[in-house]
Amino acid sequence: MKIFDLLCGADHRFEGWFASAEDYARQKKRGLVACPTCGSQKVDRVPSATRFNTGAPQPAAPRQEVGQDPLAIAQKLYSRMLDELLTKSEDVGTAFPAEARRIYYQEAPARLIRGEASQKEHDALVDEGIPVARLPIPPSGRWN
Ligand SMILES: [Zn+2]
Repeated sequence: MKIFDLLCGADHRFEGWFASAEDYARQKKRGLVACPTCGSQKVDRVPSATRFNTGAPQPAAPRQEVGQDPLAIAQKLYSRMLDELLTKSEDVGTAFPAEARRIYYQEAPARLIRGEASQKEHDALVDEGIPVARLPIPPSGRWN
């Protein structure tokens, strides 16, 4: 594991952890190295400050993990959100459009529900102003 001091185009200094110098070069080439503060991909290696440190100990800088695949991060977050949603909502299955309507028109207790609706049923709910959202849920309910 190598820790490089990096500086983005907007002068944000941060640390990146890489398997090797080659790994850093490869990730930078693929646009995977970005400034955690501003997201800039204009990132360059700078000499490590600690290497020239001769005096008092410096406060430890927060370590930022960079160079991670943004898609993997997004999937992880989405997975977590789905977990939350799946544990807090009631599965009403194919009765979803009817139940969403009953809740909206206060004919059923207000609660978070999930279930299945065809595109047509979904569009009808949206047309009626009923707040519903389609979520792409992987078959297993999670990505990993
Ligand atoms: Zn920056």
